[in-house]
Amino acid sequence: MSARILAVHRGTPGFERLITKLDAEYYDVRTVPDAEAAVRWLQADPSPDLVILEATTIDPLGGPVGGPAGFARCRRLKSLARGRELPVLMVAAASDAEGTRAPDRQCGLAAGAEDFLITPAHDAILLARIRSLVRRKRTMDQWQLREETSQLLALWADVSPGPSAAGDHARILLVDQRTDHAHRLHTALSAAGNTVIIASSSRTALAWISEVDCDAVVIDISIANDDPLRLCSRIRLATRHPQLPILLVADGGDDRRLAKALDLGIDDYVLRPVDPAELGTRIAARVRHSRYQEWLRANYHNSLRMALTDSLTGLYNRRYLHRHLDTMMRRLPVTGATLSALMIDIDHFKTVNDRHGHGAGDDVLREVARRIVRHLRAADMAARYGGEEFVVIMPDCPSDIAVDVAERLRRAVAESPITRDNVTIRVTISIGVASTSGITSDTECLLRAADDALYRAKRTGRDRVVASATLMTTTVMPAPLMPAPVMTSP
Ligand code: GH3
Ligand code: MG
Ligand code: MG
Repeated sequence: MSARILAVHRGTPGFERLITKLDAEYYDVRTVPDAEAAVRWLQADPSPDLVILEATTIDPLGGPVGGPAGFARCRRLKSLARGRELPVLMVAAASDAEGTRAPDRQCGLAAGAEDFLITPAHDAILLARIRSLVRRKRTMDQWQLREETSQLLALWADVSPGPSAAGDHARILLVDQRTDHAHRLHTALSAAGNTVIIASSSRTALAWISEVDCDAVVIDISIANDDPLRLCSRIRLATRHPQLPILLVADGGDDRRLAKALDLGIDDYVLRPVDPAELGTRIAARVRHSRYQEWLRANYHNSLRMALTDSLTGLYNRRYLHRHLDTMMRRLPVTGATLSALMIDIDHFKTVNDRHGHGAGDDVLREVARRIVRHLRAADMAARYGGEEFVVIMPDCPSDIAVDVAERLRRAVAESPITRDNVTIRVTISIGVASTSGITSDTECLLRAADDALYRAKRTGRDRVVASATLMTTTVMPAPLMPAPVMTSP
């Protein structure tokens, strides 16, 4: 996977070797000496996918000193608008770290870094971590892009103001067989305000996950009688939470398995002996990220719904109808199926507004839409086409069946009046039916034929179904023996 990496370092030999290794993996690595230069790069386009930050820094007298400057740089980058979702890996070169303060993993995490690793000791993990972080960043970029599009389309007005206000407190499923260890973690994580459920086997974990909404899962990699990586993928399949963070607890020598786990999509890990504070920090970071992503996803779907549906009736709007119908029509020559369209118009609807007011008119529109949808198959699609006009598209539906369905809809509206505030409003609908197979697959032509048939239904007395003569059929339903529609009040 190629990616743009920004490396912030001062050219220490251990770090140079790492850069060479990344270059050999075909990453596009840009090197800058300090945070200020990094800030300039972050503001440029395209911005990097990942920052690797040297954890140690060179003091003015030339010797390596331990981390505070590195942590400050990490905080500085994370505080930028573009830095919030930008993954930062803090890396110390083993030779440079020697004799200096032990790298403080917890300080790095608290400063916002995704991890704190030593090169070359952790290189297998480092490379797997880079792949996993780049994947996550790319996914996030896509969601953010969609958010920007929604904002441009001014579809953002009705969405929630921000990710869940539940703070960092999380419901955590802990899969661990060693009860003493599990209880120690349970105590520490609960003290930090989390709710922790312990599962002592894969079976229990899977039973919990399908029943309880969790924010994160922590799995001990040494779980007996089961492959922990298989359990991770089963949990992913069983959960309703699409971004559920999964973390592993592993031993120092587990590098190969951990690298594989990262490639398979686990979110993070901690090494034994587990520092509960470190585990808590990692869980909180992952939960925060997944809540933000879930918020973006929900807003996007909400925006799409607003862009493609009619707010009064909840049916698809005209824009969506045209796009979707075009797609269906393009497939007709391939499938050879027949597609039918109904153009539906409420009769004398202006009179409903005039007699009962606009609010009553809106209620009638909603109720007619509900009755239409109730009488359709799941594969059919109903849209509000205009003021009091609806279109129904029925794939795989020949003309005679379409006429039967239209007749069923007509009766569903005509046969029971709509009651509102003790006022009974009788409405009827007229329907034009047109069908097409692969030979005439033109959206406009189909809708025009249905509209012409509707026009004939109106002209010949309303409250009736007329099938188009122009495409597939010349069938005209016999005009029902009913008087013109009447609106009555008690
Ligand atoms: P016809 O039988 O020939 O279709 O007569 P009609 O009165 O139904 O048709 P016309 O086109 O004369 O009137 C349609 C009315 O629908 C006029 C318009 O005010 C009303 N209308 C359009 N959109 C809405 C809406 O969203 N809510 C309400 N309450 N009325 C609407
Ligand atoms: Mg009308
Ligand atoms: Mg009309």
